[in-house]
Amino acid sequence: MSQLILIVEDEPSIAELISINLSHVGFTVARAFQADEAALMMRTISPDLVILDWMLPGKSGVQFAKELRANPATQSLPILMLTAKGEEADKVHGLDAGADDYVTKPFSPKELVARVKALLRRHAPSVVEEKALSVGPIQLDPISHRLTITMPNLSPKSVSLGPTEFRLMQFLMANPERVHSRTHLLDNVWGNEAYIEERTVDVHIKRLRAALSPYDCDRFVETVRGSGYRITKNPVET
Ligand code: CA
Repeated sequence: MSQLILIVEDEPSIAELISINLSHVGFTVARAFQADEAALMMRTISPDLVILDWMLPGKSGVQFAKELRANPATQSLPILMLTAKGEEADKVHGLDAGADDYVTKPFSPKELVARVKALLRRHAPSVVEEKALSVGPIQLDPISHRLTITMPNLSPKSVSLGPTEFRLMQFLMANPERVHSRTHLLDNVWGNEAYIEERTVDVHIKRLRAALSPYDCDRFVETVRGSGYRITKNPVET
């Protein structure tokens, strides 16, 4: 079955360009010109991915991305953000808001299609990595896509993670106690995506820690200065 991509973009010529290119490679496309219109559409359609323009009339793409992430129905929906802003700080801001990837305007349609496919691949449930994992008080179940924290004398708590954070956590937990460089994480979690910068790893680690911190479990994800990241069941006490 064809996957459905929702494009939220107020500039008709850009929306048309994206729409044509995605349709051409077999995707079904829906279009909205504003965030509120997109939210309304999503009551009746369930897109597999959203391409979201940063600068929209009314509610901004960044604000809408935050709302999608806060809603249990759409918290793991892949979001690709379009931005005219080339500044590094703005890119990181977009990722912080909940986007999984971003493309800077002007972009090549070919690159955009490649990124859409890559993001969908990353989000697709993997058939080979179905093993339940456990590190310290943290348990990950790839089948139910759940991360749970179990502390002594407390009922288990479920942690909400975006699709990229979940895969990142899954990789770290499958390879505990080892230090993974940013390049190694990009290769294994993001796959063959030539466009992703190393800085992206830091952003997703930050988001992962933010999700774990209410349970005091962010300390299990350690930064190894100059080397990368690791998950350990014996975090260094600070
Ligand atoms: Ca715009």
